[in-house]
Amino acid sequence: MYYDKAIETMKREDLKKLQLERLQKTVHAAYQSPFYKKRFDSIGLKPKDIRTLEDIYKIPFTTKDDLRAAYPDLMLAVPKNQPVRIHSSSGTTGRATVIFFTKKDIDVWADLMGRCLYMAGMRPDDVFQNMVSYGLFTGGLGFHYGAERFGSMVIPAGGGNTAKQITLIKDFGTTYLHITPSYALHIAYELEQMKIPASSLGLKGLFCGAEPYSESTRKKLEEIYRIPVFNSYGLSEMNGPGVGFECQEKEDIHIWEDNYIVEIIDPQTGEAVLPGERGELVLTTINREAMPILRYRTKDLTFLHKDLCKCGRTHAKIGRIIGRSDDMLIVRGVNLFPSQIEAVIMEIPEVGNNYQIVIDRSDEHLDRLTVKVEIDNKVFHGELKDLKMIQKKIKHAIKEEIMIQPEIELLEPNTLPPSEGKAKRVIDLRNI
Ligand code: AMP
Ligand code: ZN
Repeated sequence: MYYDKAIETMKREDLKKLQLERLQKTVHAAYQSPFYKKRFDSIGLKPKDIRTLEDIYKIPFTTKDDLRAAYPDLMLAVPKNQPVRIHSSSGTTGRATVIFFTKKDIDVWADLMGRCLYMAGMRPDDVFQNMVSYGLFTGGLGFHYGAERFGSMVIPAGGGNTAKQITLIKDFGTTYLHITPSYALHIAYELEQMKIPASSLGLKGLFCGAEPYSESTRKKLEEIYRIPVFNSYGLSEMNGPGVGFECQEKEDIHIWEDNYIVEIIDPQTGEAVLPGERGELVLTTINREAMPILRYRTKDLTFLHKDLCKCGRTHAKIGRIIGRSDDMLIVRGVNLFPSQIEAVIMEIPEVGNNYQIVIDRSDEHLDRLTVKVEIDNKVFHGELKDLKMIQKKIKHAIKEEIMIQPEIELLEPNTLPPSEGKAKRVIDLRNI
């Protein structure tokens, strides 16, 4: 049972042919953008030099920093009046990474989502509740357009407001949810408080993604809700959701290779690793008009499956994302880098030399961010009310930068472990 049988079960050699055709077209298109023109010219690479799929190795990687440098539209490969929408990554730091979509890009994306939903077992008769935030974040409108195009009824519930979410599920007969794994755990907790068994809601499946979670968290969710949980993978740079999804085998993630070229590299050397070996996922869009991105270093760590899937789909599978090759954290669905917090607190004169970021989960399964900050004795003279003020100041400054309200713990100088070499700035106690 497929959404698009011809594409999903295409012979590998035909898929490769299609990939080459689309890669060549994409490289020509990308060369129209100021960013890629400059990059290609600087190494003397011409679009026509890409003759085989292996020639992709001639193209330099694209990084998140490149996207920031190209802000707002230096990677745009079509005239400025062509795009119909922008999205951006859930990170909030200064220059966001922004992605443009043409009408066709939105259609292609909606179709990819349709494939994912159908693959996991959803059908047009189902009722789909989208419980992630709408707006610039791709998870809202991405799933929304996919499910709507698919023909199911969509409830654009957005994130939060648990009581209302539960009412919507009950009153409108919701059968599938798109939800972050941590929010699914939180809802389970609330249901327990309300003495409503999660398994009594009439749900048929959960699509969980946008943040890392382990196989044991999946099992836990499946036990609580008594329905299958499917892993949904995506990133805004590659559209958002719809890049990869689990089929009903629930053994890792199919990537739609007619839209993306998949590479796994050693993050240190940039060289390809062998199938089955762990490395960083690199993706190239080969079916996107407004903003093609070539060899994007996702920083997500995974591996490539060696064998084809039992479901009959021929598109490659990657393992559950088990970590990152940089220090990006996802807290309450928001991407953040410890350096953002550091930059903010070090601007505050009362802050001393050492700090530590601690992330854990409350009993209600909500992420909690605590920043422990040593104060500077030269500046601080010991009034309790001053301490409260500094605490407030730091809290406010961090919230402004990362949108998440942290708890601030002020400490005497030299209380935190001294940094010997590489300081351990982040302690992540979440059991994900
Ligand atoms: P954003 O661009 O804000 O959508 O964030 C994309 C990032 O979220 C990815 O690069 C991953 O690090 C993370 N992510 C998304 N989906 C998953 C998933 N299913 N498992 C683990 N990490 C995920
Ligand atoms: Zn499969």
